[in-house]
Amino acid sequence: MLTHFPELFLPPSKKLDETPFVYWGFECGDGWFTLIKELAEKLNQLPESEEFKVVQVKEKLGTLRFYMRAKDGRKSDALPHSILDLIRQVESQSAVTCEACGNPGKLSHKGGWWKTRCSKTQCATT
Ligand SMILES: [Zn+2]
Repeated sequence: MLTHFPELFLPPSKKLDETPFVYWGFECGDGWFTLIKELAEKLNQLPESEEFKVVQVKEKLGTLRFYMRAKDGRKSDALPHSILDLIRQVESQSAVTCEACGNPGKLSHKGGWWKTRCSKTQCATT
């Protein structure tokens, strides 16, 4: 992912507080790889996204979260609607895509955690 979309994912700054992404990477399962890749491809085609970079990709409460920030380091920038719409689409898709394998899945509450998984037993235990 980093080699395919360096402009999008690799931030110019190396400071830990500004670039958690470089240190933590993708904090989610491989099943969402295609979702993230498709989102990255769409973002690459948006002229607006040139001013922004991805700072963090992770799983939270069972769905995918995708955080972006302005490249020049300005904080709390409101992302353009075009970008927000793409991110919301992929976040809602992640609620029906098994985080472990990418098959159609279901968001459910198990053992104190929200997870999106398919019906395969090996996915349910990851
Ligand atoms: Zn699965």
